[in-house]
Amino acid sequence: SIFEQSDEINLKFVLLGDSAVGKTSFLYRLTEDRFFESHVSSIGVDYKTLHFNVNEKKVHVQLWDTAGQDRYRSIAMSYIRGADAAILMYDITRASTFQELSQKWMVDLKNINDNTVIGILGNKTDLEATRMISTQNGKLLSDQEGAVKFTEISAKNSAKEDLLLIFQEIVEFVLK
Ligand code: GDP
Repeated sequence: SIFEQSDEINLKFVLLGDSAVGKTSFLYRLTEDRFFESHVSSIGVDYKTLHFNVNEKKVHVQLWDTAGQDRYRSIAMSYIRGADAAILMYDITRASTFQELSQKWMVDLKNINDNTVIGILGNKTDLEATRMISTQNGKLLSDQEGAVKFTEISAKNSAKEDLLLIFQEIVEFVLK
């Protein structure tokens, strides 16, 4: 294809998970290195493009941020189709967001596209005092679901560079 000839690769990733787990905050940290304590819940879908160099190829990743509310779920579903990877996020301080990850988001994802590379992120590690989901349980879920990457992050406190490294690992899995 044209893209291979020019050593450029375009990928599409989707960010999934319940409302307020921190999807938009993660996207802001990755792109603008900013954090907002309060955020107006994103309506519909927005995306940012991230750029990586992998094996001397330029890789452009469109990362789609889908709103988690049920009324926007059908929108999110349409973005899963054709996604090269899905990053599923839960909030370590809210058990319901962890349960929904396997009972809702993973089910939808596998129904639509069973080949999608999956990464799982537990967000809000800065709120350790109110943690509800252990790291070990996150790992167990990740193994169960065949995720290529699991880690815990804080969109509030993690360094942008560290989040980009996690992201780059998932990109490398997609290109394998
Ligand atoms: P989204 O609905 O999944 O996109 O979630 P948002 O990014 O809008 O975040 C929801 C709320 O959680 C906002 O008030 C954020 O400021 C807050 N938030 C997001 N990430 C973190 C984090 O890592 N730590 C803390 N303490 N709050 C966070």
